[in-house]
Amino acid sequence: MESDSAVTRAMPGKVYLVGAGPGDPELLTVKAQRLLAHADVILHDDLVPAEILALAGPQASVASVGKRFGAEGTTQSEINARMIESASCGLEVVRLKGGDPGIFGRLAEEIDALDAAGVAFEVVPGITAGIAAAASLGISLTDRRKATRIVVITNHQARAKLGAASNDWRGLIRDDSTLLIYMPGHDFAGLRDELLAAGGAKDTPAAIVSRASAPDQRYRFTTVGELDKLPRMDSPAVVLIGTSLTCAHRRATASTSAALALDEAELILSSL
Ligand code: SAH
Repeated sequence: MESDSAVTRAMPGKVYLVGAGPGDPELLTVKAQRLLAHADVILHDDLVPAEILALAGPQASVASVGKRFGAEGTTQSEINARMIESASCGLEVVRLKGGDPGIFGRLAEEIDALDAAGVAFEVVPGITAGIAAAASLGISLTDRRKATRIVVITNHQARAKLGAASNDWRGLIRDDSTLLIYMPGHDFAGLRDELLAAGGAKDTPAAIVSRASAPDQRYRFTTVGELDKLPRMDSPAVVLIGTSLTCAHRRATASTSAALALDEAELILSSL
């Protein structure tokens, strides 16, 4: 008689394209956690932290297919081939991506490849970096009184790498929009110039959040006119811009002034 596992293996496999969230394991979905525990094969990106990979079951073969730090830098077609091959053997595959798989995650190419090969798949959403960054700064990305649009975009260096034209910021940098800029690069003077040239107001608040939701998360507030003063921060980092940041910006400035005032008071006391 066939064993249960032989019966299972005789069934067609499936690929789950899963978002791992921004880094904090507590921000993983319950569904992602369950799929990780059951998967036969897990193919993950560099951005997925070890604590999340530790949720894999003992049966799983876990491999990094990250393009940055992955062993040989796995190409997109190799990743597609590995997913298709494992699923064709009846295995359950989790393709684990940082944040949400459908936000700058090459999900469309993977879906196309799976579709072409006739492999069943399911997309499992995750919390994307920009949403996690806004939450950690205490920002509502929309505010029916002033911010009614969210623009999710990459900065021009990332677009140039992909062979695309620079962003046309006109129509994007508006009072009623919150911009979430992924892969922001480090040329913040260039970004400031482009935003101002597109009609952006100098005093629109902006923030950079590095390693959102991780224990070593860092952030800094500024304004569009002073974007060039942002320090270089560890990647991954995301830039947020818009009037929806106004209160958070004020809070941050108030706590910085309070900390400075405290420092000054301590200095005065220690010099007495
Ligand atoms: N699919 C991912 C984005 C992949 S593109 C998502 O939905 O979040 C990679 C870019 O995402 C990085 O260059 C950075 O801009 C952003 N990013 C990913 N994780 C981040 C994090 N924890 N904190 C800040 N930015 C992050």
